[in-house]
Amino acid sequence: MIYLDNAATTKTIDEAAKVALKYYTEDYYNPSALYRAASIVHGEMDSAAKIIAGALNADKNELVFTSCATESSNMVFECGIKNKKGNVIVSEMEHPSVYEAAKRLAGKGTDVRFAKINKNGIVDVDYFEKLVDENTALVSIIHCSNETGAVNDIKTLAGITKSKSKALFHSDGVQSFLKIDSDVKKLGVDYYSVSAHKIGGLKGVGLLYINKSLNIPALIVGGGQQGGRRSGTENVGGIISFAKAVEEYKKASKVFDSGLARGIFAGKLRDAGWARINALESENSGYIVSISFQGIKGEVLSRILEDKGIIVGIGSACSSHAKTNRTLTAMGVGKDYINGTIRVSFNPFLSMEDISYAADVIISEAAKLRGTING
Ligand code: PLP
Repeated sequence: MIYLDNAATTKTIDEAAKVALKYYTEDYYNPSALYRAASIVHGEMDSAAKIIAGALNADKNELVFTSCATESSNMVFECGIKNKKGNVIVSEMEHPSVYEAAKRLAGKGTDVRFAKINKNGIVDVDYFEKLVDENTALVSIIHCSNETGAVNDIKTLAGITKSKSKALFHSDGVQSFLKIDSDVKKLGVDYYSVSAHKIGGLKGVGLLYINKSLNIPALIVGGGQQGGRRSGTENVGGIISFAKAVEEYKKASKVFDSGLARGIFAGKLRDAGWARINALESENSGYIVSISFQGIKGEVLSRILEDKGIIVGIGSACSSHAKTNRTLTAMGVGKDYINGTIRVSFNPFLSMEDISYAADVIISEAAKLRGTING
């Protein structure tokens, strides 16, 4: 089986799974307890936080561990806006975890503005600049699209925001972390959301980077864990194995050329002549390829491919019950193409041979399907 739905989730890296198990079956102590065994666990969790923070060029105290990136982004929208009267800007290409949080604010009366994206699937910078004003309180722009792999110029967008307002800047870094440069200091962001299960860690573990100059109230209150910023006993195994996943994923991605992978894949499909590759080769993480076939159903093609041992996504798994694809619609992709869209996403443990073979199978199965439909 060739698994090409890594933007939905990744296989847990063996070493990370082993580490997690240890903290459930051997060193299972509550890190807040006062006996020595528990403080050792607390110290190991701290060391893990240091490793993860290092990958973001952050300090370990700037991280709050959460149950998922969805919680991280919700925390920003619920607790991370200083000037509650100001306007909020998000883009049309946000993941639902940001988009729905913004819509909820709009429902409560906040002036929420939507930044347009261009045909290449990234935020239109000129349009964005016009949306920001001195009353902007929060901006949230996704770093790398979960639909197309397109990468926004966060440094420029954060720079514009800071030059025109006192707004705080959040970016959803779930599909960019360890895939492209996610140095939060260079990007100039105040908040950054990350999820462990997209990089070989466990599901149910996320983090929110919060710049150390900010002191935001907690979304979840209780026992005061994590310095009171997020109560609840920490997911010890999840957090420590997250650090292991970071190390292993980083190692693998040093030898995996994602640009080459996307190039091979997209090139073959483009050569077939009748597939549309959404978003550009440049300004892309290389880990995601969104392909639209006119006149066939992505869902049907994905089922046929599964029978052939290849697993792909159709648009975003998180919004597979949504009737249409918001990002592709905003890019101006026609409905006939959107219905025939599959999303292929890589991990750095894949071989170029498997990637190339999968492209050949997709072309031949899509061609057969077209033949059936066109008679
Ligand atoms: N943001 C993006 C861009 C994603 O792709 C996903 C997962 O699909 C999420 C947020 C949500 O992450 P989690 O599953 O950790 O809540």
